[in-house]
Amino acid sequence: MIAPLPPAAEDLLDRVLCPSCLTENVDGEPFCKKCGAPIGFGATYGPYESVLAQGHALRQAAEGRPKLVILLGTWLLFGPVVAIGLAAISFIMFSPEPGNTPDAIFVGLFGSLTALNIAILYRVTKNHFSKRSPAIEKEESEGS
Ligand SMILES: [Zn+2]
Repeated sequence: MIAPLPPAAEDLLDRVLCPSCLTENVDGEPFCKKCGAPIGFGATYGPYESVLAQGHALRQAAEGRPKLVILLGTWLLFGPVVAIGLAAISFIMFSPEPGNTPDAIFVGLFGSLTALNIAILYRVTKNHFSKRSPAIEKEESEGS
């Protein structure tokens, strides 16, 4: 017969280390309690949880220094949306009959969508050019 584990060891078995920030989490939780990184199976299978996991991946991409390929990909994804949004807004604003309600709704809708996309583009681009890559920072802190 196997002796039961002491309470402290049993406690350890129920914990998972977050791969992102190394915080101890209770086993079975889909997300890290500290940084929100997906740590459990629930994070990939639940519809709501997978959205949160994708959000975490996006934040990771937006927080570090994005690689050139990510920068280009972001522009390819969001650039046309911004261009179309701005074109639609200017078309509505300068159309012969401005000022009726549906137009205002469209301008608001396109405007907020376009602003959001511009914010994403700005953030990723700024991060790419202002932050140095972790590898370079590491080399410098090791003192050459
Ligand atoms: Zn974490």
